[in-house]
Amino acid sequence: MTATLLRGGHPWGHGAPADILVGDGLIQQVGPALDAPAARVVDVTGQLVLPGLVESHCHLDKTLYGGPWVPHSADDTLAGRIGNDLARRAELGVPSVERIERLLRRMSACGTTHARTHTDIDPGVGLRGVEAVREAAGRVPVTVQQVAFPQHGVLTNPGTAELLEAALKSGVEAVGGLDPAGIDRDPVRHLDLIFGLAERYGAHLDIHLHDGGTLGAWELELITERTKALGLGGRVTVSHAYALGQIDEAHQGRLAEGFADAGVALATGAVYSFPVPPVKKMRAAGVVIACGHDGIRDLWGPYGSGDMLERAMHLAYRSTFRSDPDIELALEAATYGGARALGLTGYGLAAGDRADLVVVPAGGAAEAVVTHPSRSLVMKDGAVLHN
Ligand SMILES: [Zn+2]
Repeated sequence: MTATLLRGGHPWGHGAPADILVGDGLIQQVGPALDAPAARVVDVTGQLVLPGLVESHCHLDKTLYGGPWVPHSADDTLAGRIGNDLARRAELGVPSVERIERLLRRMSACGTTHARTHTDIDPGVGLRGVEAVREAAGRVPVTVQQVAFPQHGVLTNPGTAELLEAALKSGVEAVGGLDPAGIDRDPVRHLDLIFGLAERYGAHLDIHLHDGGTLGAWELELITERTKALGLGGRVTVSHAYALGQIDEAHQGRLAEGFADAGVALATGAVYSFPVPPVKKMRAAGVVIACGHDGIRDLWGPYGSGDMLERAMHLAYRSTFRSDPDIELALEAATYGGARALGLTGYGLAAGDRADLVVVPAGGAAEAVVTHPSRSLVMKDGAVLHN
């Protein structure tokens, strides 16, 4: 592959403009006025260069993206959305390889180079969602991690536990969980099961937690204790964790310290009207914060564009961030934070890192988030995809 020289950009966090020389899929050099006569030169003078955006929480298998508009009819409860999802799945042809592929292409055009997606696993759909996501992901230059996700319960939905294990055996990278108390009504057995699977298969663990208030906070403690006891730090993420936004500050502080100490990451999409976890406070405590859309144009909700800079804007907006350093925290969640939660290696803007890059016409991180302009260039494994 021909080497590529990005000339004159501002690599995020470098302080001064620097050229980036890419070859063999990696960043070879970063510095001023690099000399590489054989390289293809792309002039990005004055533009911001970011590492590839990381979508840390989506549901590709559910998407209706690229198809006709589907009116939303679910009542606004968790049970209502789950029921609507199940009832209309067959009618709408979900999961659809074509729609997943269209959404992945859109995500790639917006600079997403890595995505973690929660794929429904239940006796009705079996592993069809896993296979559909795998097929679509094979067609698009986005590295996709799947979470085997028991959307309709594990203990309350016989046959699901066996299918979760089958998904892991087939190579799915992570095992999911869902409201161990609120949905499965037995947090100890639920956590026994999914932590057991994560240990046996060396998988990551990513648990949806909608349960609110002190119930949700107690479940967060259970997850933290187990992660620490089993030495699974760095491999466990809690998604949503709305409870964190509903408890008092002292309690938030204790949970944040627990997360940081045990190595539990938090993935948030700042979606809809749910409380947003205190991102700034948790970051200050050393917690890894990742960001994702959750559903994108699916039966759960009509919103979502696939653009992680726009999603970072939503996170900043709902976190009431105004200052540039605060807004930059949202971009961190859509980049480095996501990379840590997903366990990516070789991620960043230093020599030796994988050449997954996005160039944006913005003077800095906060501007990129607030304006989320069209990407000037997207590069994946050293190949220029959009320019
Ligand atoms: Zn979700």
